[in-house]
Amino acid sequence: MVELSQVDAEILTQIFDALRYASEQHRDQRRKGEDESPYVNHLIAVADLLVAVGGVRDSDVVCAGILHDTLEDTETTADELEQRYGVRVRGIVEEVSDDQALVKEERKRRQIEHAPHISYEAKLVKLADKISNVGDVGAFPPAGWSHERRVDYIVWAEEVVAGLRGTNEALEARFDDVVVETRRSLGV
Ligand code: ZN
Repeated sequence: MVELSQVDAEILTQIFDALRYASEQHRDQRRKGEDESPYVNHLIAVADLLVAVGGVRDSDVVCAGILHDTLEDTETTADELEQRYGVRVRGIVEEVSDDQALVKEERKRRQIEHAPHISYEAKLVKLADKISNVGDVGAFPPAGWSHERRVDYIVWAEEVVAGLRGTNEALEARFDDVVVETRRSLGV
């Protein structure tokens, strides 16, 4: 048994709160994959990759990982995030959120363009997100996605991650492994 310190317990409480909040905000959404898994599974996967693979020990980054899709995909506002989780978490989530006023192709182009210029913390979250997404495209391809669309997604994710390199060796290595595995499953 490991006895948690008071600080550990406070951090866990914040993490549980973020999980509860994010799952509530995303409650009407499912992942696009054919298994239609609850959206929160993706958020848990991102947080887990950050801590267990990336060795991240910054609780704000883990919290931002859990909340990273709330601005893009739910009614959550940046002010709400700041009130509940602080200005630093808000900033990281804002950095990894696309401008929803733009059309999809432009949003995707900007992710490639912006990747090298975002903060170290935002790069960690983005790396974990891309690992989870590429893995899902291989393991649980979204219904209705053609073979070509899946391959295009991987190529695009590789371009985004190219701009994130030099941030966290373990996460980058995991991304490379997941790409190899997903390409193999798609026969490309
Ligand atoms: Zn995501």
